[in-house]
This record gives sequence, structure tokens and C-alpha cells, in this order.
Amino acid sequence: MSVAEKINNLKAGLPEHVTLVAVSKTKPIKAIEDAYESGHRDFGENRVQELQEKYPALPKDIRWHAIGHLQRNKVKYIAPFIHLIHSVDSLRLLKEINKEAEKNERSIKVLLQFHIAQEESKFGLDWEEATNLVESDDFQEMKNIEVVGVMGMATFIDNEEQVKEEFAQLRFFFEQLKQQYFKNQSSFKEISMGMSGDYELAISEGSTMIRVGSSLFGARE
Ligand SMILES: *Cc1c(COP(=O)(O)O)cnc(C)c1O
Repeated sequence: MSVAEKINNLKAGLPEHVTLVAVSKTKPIKAIEDAYESGHRDFGENRVQELQEKYPALPKDIRWHAIGHLQRNKVKYIAPFIHLIHSVDSLRLLKEINKEAEKNERSIKVLLQFHIAQEESKFGLDWEEATNLVESDDFQEMKNIEVVGVMGMATFIDNEEQVKEEFAQLRFFFEQLKQQYFKNQSSFKEISMGMSGDYELAISEGSTMIRVGSSLFGARE
């Protein structure tokens, strides 16, 4: 099956409120072009350098999603065109995004990344850090960012119960944030969770955005 067929098959089975972000990291321009030809527009990358290479080489109506850990000094390279940054895990990073968005005379949509996995290595905020962030004066003053939801990665483990609990936790954080801080903001509606191995579980736990790479494009090197 071609990448385009795999994408179309996957999308055909998704509930209407779920967006597929096709994670094209490490994959060549050609693979993205094939997917684009079939009508797909949302692509995810985790490295700024790859975004910088792929953006100019591909059609401008692609919606690029930054899904990996983002260093502040690299925000400037993607600020002109990025559609959604999934991986905001500090106030300092968010301030930098706001600053670069302002320079580009635009607003940038972001998600707050939560640490929901048991693995030490995964980035993300805990509840207290997230509430400190949204309650800060700095946050209140930002005019060029829009927080539209949350993102998280479950533990990479073959234990459905645990993964399900982690997704449920992220959804709970989303609901709490919505209720306490974003009640009057209708664009606060995204829960980015679920990858190749666990997206079905993520959808059953309330995901609105799945980030799927290897099951569409094949295993990465
Ligand atoms: C690579 C990556 C994905 C996609 O993973 P697959 O298992 O290949 O579907 C999703 N989210 C993030 C943050 C990633 O880095």
C-alpha cells in the first residue's frame, strides 16, 4: 500500500473530531509529496532543521506541526510558518514563541505539553507547573500566542491499562484547564495524544489529534 492509501484508510476510520498529523520526520520530501497529492495537509516534524529544509521545498498550504522538544534559540526559524507547536513545556519557551510571533506579525497556536509517562526522559509540565504558567503575569500579557489545548506522550510499554490511565490523566488536565482558565475560549479544544502503537486507545480516551508516523511511512532508521 502507498503512503497515500495508508493515510486515506486511517482517516476513513477516524471520528470526525480527530485530526491526523502525519509524522514525516526522517522521511524524504517525496514521501510527503505523495501524501500531499492524496489531499493530506497536516504533517508533523520533531526537528527544527528538518522543518527548515522541508518547508521551502513543499506546497505552502501544508500545515506544519512541531511535535518535538523545542529549544528557545530555534524558535525564530519556524516562527514565520509553523501551524501548531505541540511541545510547550516552559514559560520561557512560550515567551520566546510570543516574541518571534510578534516579529512576524502573526499569532502562533500552541499546546501545553504534560508529562504523563512514567519514563523519566519525557519532557512536559506537571499540573503545578502548568497552573503557574497560565497564572503568571507574563502569560497574561502575551498577545501573539494562542493556547489551544494540551499534548502528551504515554509510556512506551505493552500495558494497555497503564497507557489508558495516562491518557485519561491528560484528558483530566485538559478538562481542568478548560474549566478554570479557558472557559470562554472556544479554540481551547485540542488533546494531542496517540501515536502508531496507541492511537486507538488515545481516541477512546478523548484524543482530538493523533500523531502517527511509522505505521504510515514505515519504520525509521
Ligand atoms: C515520532 C513521534 C511520533 C510518531 O511516532 P510513531 O510511533 O512513529 O507513530 C509522535 N509524537 C512524537 C512527539 C514523536 O516524536
